[in-house]
Amino acid sequence: MKIAILALQGAFAEHEQMLQQLGAETFQVRKPADWQQPKDALVIPGGESTAMLKIMNDEQLFAPIKAEIEAGLPVFGTCAGLIMLDREHLGTMDILAKRNAYGRQLGSFNTVAEVKGIGSVPMTFIRAPYIEEVGPEVEVLAEVDGRIVAARQGKQLVTAFHPELTESTQLHALFLELIDKK
Ligand code: GLN
Repeated sequence: MKIAILALQGAFAEHEQMLQQLGAETFQVRKPADWQQPKDALVIPGGESTAMLKIMNDEQLFAPIKAEIEAGLPVFGTCAGLIMLDREHLGTMDILAKRNAYGRQLGSFNTVAEVKGIGSVPMTFIRAPYIEEVGPEVEVLAEVDGRIVAARQGKQLVTAFHPELTESTQLHALFLELIDKK
């Protein structure tokens, strides 16, 4: 299993460590030549979605990444990665993200909540978005205070929180299962 990690900016190293801990191979993507390597899946990390989008465009990675996800490449987007997959960005997932959605006071916080099919999961939110609209193909996996914070559409998985910044490998394990699923 070989997983591409978009490493333009943000928390990509932590995703690599977590996936390697679970036995997957990873490689970093910064340029189109990196992207051309064979891969079983992609991770888009947290960071700053405006900066990530700009670099993705400057490096001419936007169109090839969008095309492979549309062709079925499994993808896991966390926080800014969730924003990148929504209707207003890559548009591969039928969700609309609300950015910086928890206000100044609650910009960053930790909680524990249930994720469908997994159980309780520790969640770290850092100036996080939530999902304000989902289309009919989207399965909601978790909510915090009535707001959607994790969802799946086919082989696309998103979390508003940062599982790579906790001790729990549960979400990454779920993603690896999803990649293998028929
Ligand atoms: N607030 C950031 C954005 O809008 C996301 C924060 C994060 O990824 N931790 O892109």
